Amino acid sequence: MNIALIAHDGKKPEMVAFAMKNKALLSKTEIFATGTTGKHLEDSGLIVTRFLSGPIGGDAQIAAEVANGKIQAVIFFRDPLDKHPHEPDVNMLMRICDVHNIPLATNPATATLIIGGLTN
Ligand code: PGA
Repeated sequence: MNIALIAHDGKKPEMVAFAMKNKALLSKTEIFATGTTGKHLEDSGLIVTRFLSGPIGGDAQIAAEVANGKIQAVIFFRDPLDKHPHEPDVNMLMRICDVHNIPLATNPATATLIIGGLTN
């Protein structure tokens, strides 16, 4: 099981809190993350495969892994109250998840449901 974890800057604290809450399950998966999110997760004790930072192509790299069938769930805490220069890449990643029917959570409430589903 491979899971992608991504968070916009304003949501990184929530992502770290979510990862810590679900550390037991996440430790049994392979975690893929964009650069800065991955650094925060590593600093919290998780083992992470890090891609480029989102704004310089990390979201696109994760989308490519989804398209290649290597990622089974994407958790992307987007910040709806901020602007993002890489919005086209974010939209592309969400589209690729839909194309390949990959579970995608964009907030902690949905992410918790997905993690619960994976646990079962
Ligand atoms: P980051 O990228 O983890 O490198 O900050 C996330 C994003 O903004 O897409």
